[in-house]
Amino acid sequence: MAKIFCVANQKGGVGKTTTTVNLAAGLAKVGQRVLMIDLDPQGNATMGSGVDKRKLELTIYDVLIESASVKEARVQSDKLIEAGCGYDILGANRELSGAEIELVTLERREKRLKQALTEVDADYDFILIDCPPSLSMLTLNGLCSAHGVIVPMQCEYFALEGLTDLVNTIKQVHANLNKDLSIIGLLRVMFDPRITLQQQVSEQLKAHFGGKVFNTVIPRNVRLAEAPSYGVPGVVFDPASKGAQAFVAFAQEMVERIDKL
Ligand code: ATP
Ligand code: MG
Repeated sequence: MAKIFCVANQKGGVGKTTTTVNLAAGLAKVGQRVLMIDLDPQGNATMGSGVDKRKLELTIYDVLIESASVKEARVQSDKLIEAGCGYDILGANRELSGAEIELVTLERREKRLKQALTEVDADYDFILIDCPPSLSMLTLNGLCSAHGVIVPMQCEYFALEGLTDLVNTIKQVHANLNKDLSIIGLLRVMFDPRITLQQQVSEQLKAHFGGKVFNTVIPRNVRLAEAPSYGVPGVVFDPASKGAQAFVAFAQEMVERIDKL
């Protein structure tokens, strides 16, 4: 049975997509079967996995409005397979922004993704969902499907405050829609140990959230930022880089955490 995780933070540009594609590649590298779902109309996770969002015939949009199944809409990327980090991709493009409005009038609107994923449950060890920077109907579909949420965050001054909305939303979804849901962990990303403030916030996070803070820390690393323009995750683009190594270590930490769940 697949373990399903949302990568979510309503704040923009905090590293959700970078985390999703690199964790997917890292998990694939250590032998896990992975499906990566792009739930963001920006389609960055799709492009960053080597799939041209403009050329996709079927996307997550078709799955949500039930005009295609996950098995019909998932695709693969040759670049990832050649690198030994192949994972399946359920892509997104601008069409998905329409789903937000269309879903409002449909029945079971927040459980559509969950329903669709039952069909492929046995095909994967991990399903990772890249959420948009909002607490929208799309994100809600992600949260209703998932066993847990991975929250990437930068160790900045407002980091803790920004978490309150997300934590409240997750509590509400847990209470009303999805009893399985919890925060699996907070992932410190774009970390620069030379900056004292980042160290302080990191310590605050550990004091506040204890074991919910992942041991692995993702450093600020330019190779991770360069990789998307080559259509691959950093783990594939430059496996020897500090950023890539951190994400492979994070993948291993996830596998270990899952075993203990
Ligand atoms: P959005 O809210 O728009 O979906 P996001 O949360 O998905 O954004 P990303 O797109 O992953 O954030 O990252 C934002 C920017 O920061 C990107 O340009 C990305 O390449 C860069 N970035 C992410 N992580 C790192 C890192 N560890 N080191 C250096 N650059 C990074
Ligand atoms: Mg993103």
